[in-house]
Amino acid sequence: MNTFKLQIVAPDRVLYDGEATFLLVRAQSGDIGIQANHQKLVTPLTIGKMKVEFADAQPRFAAITGGFMKVGDNVVTVLTTACEWQDEIDVARAERAAERARKDKQAARSKKEMDRAEIKLKRALNRISVAKK
Ligand code: ATP
Repeated sequence: MNTFKLQIVAPDRVLYDGEATFLLVRAQSGDIGIQANHQKLVTPLTIGKMKVEFADAQPRFAAITGGFMKVGDNVVTVLTTACEWQDEIDVARAERAAERARKDKQAARSKKEMDRAEIKLKRALNRISVAKK
């Protein structure tokens, strides 16, 4: 199967820099699957799961909280605001974050506070869902 170069970057580290055969990310317009020689594009990413497939290894899953993906000439760059591989996710921490977010939602006194709590809850639930996949 044809490969493309994939780089996944978080603010504090590079999660992956190598070849891949397939990438699934959640864009604001819906899930996007990338294979070798995909047309060029730049798209914002939203909270969701990411799946990476390789020629010679098992697929890997990650939780992503947002960012951008750039598809160039068989080179794909995923720039994330935060991203963890499945086996790096601390489920207890995400459960605590979800609990805090639920409390924040109940205590919210403006739409802005409610939106912020909703996003925090989504981030935590996404991490839990990816970890338990
Ligand atoms: P928390 O309140 O637990 O910090 P958060 O949603 O506010 O959660 P983020 O701001 O999205 O956290 O991420 C801050 C940093 O912590 C990032 O580097 C992210 O990868 C990491 N991180 C956040 N939650 C987890 C988790 N449950 N397991 C592993 N790493 C996490």
